Amino acid sequence: MIDQPVLSKAVYLSLVVPCYDEETALPQFYADAIGICESINKPFELIFIDDGSKDATLKILRQIAHNDIRVHYISFSRNFGKEAAMLAGLQAAQGTYTVVLDADGQDPPALIPQMLEAVASGEYDCAGTRRVNRTGEPPVRSFFARCFYRIMRKFTDIAIVDGARDFRLMNKRYMDALLTLPERNRFSKGIFPWIGFNTKWFEYENIARTAGSTKWSFWKLVMYSLDGMAAFSSKPIAIVSVLGMVLFMVALAIIVFIIIRKLAYGDPVAGWTSTICIILFCSGIQLFTIGILGQYIAKTYTETKQRPHFIIREAQ
Ligand code: UDP
Ligand code: MG
Repeated sequence: MIDQPVLSKAVYLSLVVPCYDEETALPQFYADAIGICESINKPFELIFIDDGSKDATLKILRQIAHNDIRVHYISFSRNFGKEAAMLAGLQAAQGTYTVVLDADGQDPPALIPQMLEAVASGEYDCAGTRRVNRTGEPPVRSFFARCFYRIMRKFTDIAIVDGARDFRLMNKRYMDALLTLPERNRFSKGIFPWIGFNTKWFEYENIARTAGSTKWSFWKLVMYSLDGMAAFSSKPIAIVSVLGMVLFMVALAIIVFIIIRKLAYGDPVAGWTSTICIILFCSGIQLFTIGILGQYIAKTYTETKQRPHFIIREAQ
């Protein structure tokens, strides 16, 4: 008799959960996620990625995985960032469908059955989620977030959806496409729309963290948005080139004006202040331009080094 593959053992749904110092949120998350997955009545797995946590996260994960064979974890040698954690989880996921979600309860696992239904119907390759409001977030942060989305839409050709979360459920086709992107400077908010496919959007009100605190400081977010811009657009370089050209034209006009004035009035020394202002202005623009070019060169340098995205210390 030919051995048939045991289909019922194949994983149907994988949950990928990046965790960084989430000791307070984990127990509740695990209970909620297991409840939802069991209600789906299909084989599933939970993959937690401990992104170099300094608290008891890894200890809790070891314990959970020890007691529940459906749970796996990957622990990094240090903090490599959420993007690296998501990537590690996606690479390890075995499921026909995979969903990425945060450990802090801000991505409600209760939405998973609906998302799964949309993708399993075959009509969509991916189910994405977006927050329709930012209640509970500092107003300054919301303001900058909105500006960021507006600038990104102007600067890049990809449509980044306002308020889109990384909370996503995808099929194999979508996952395979996602994993073909080898870049070190990963910016998922841009990668998702870049790879395309049909996405069904689910909207929900912002939910406060169940426990713990956000790992994103304001400056970390600013740097993340700059990274995103550099990863998906070279328009800043084009803009500074145009700026350089415009300034050159202005300088040319001023030179002509000064020559004519000298010939007419013979007073070349007047206007010291304005000269200094112009020199300062132009050198400022030059430094700014070099800075922008430097950003792209630095990114290229990181890519060419071809370092791994993360280093795993232990896994189960
Ligand atoms: N996270 C991570 N590595 C990091 C920062 C965050 O794995 O360097 C995880 C974190 O544990 C959480 C998710 O990514 O599960 C989202 O982080 P957080 O809740 O701090 O971000 P926010 O929801 O405030 O955007
Ligand atoms: Mg969160």
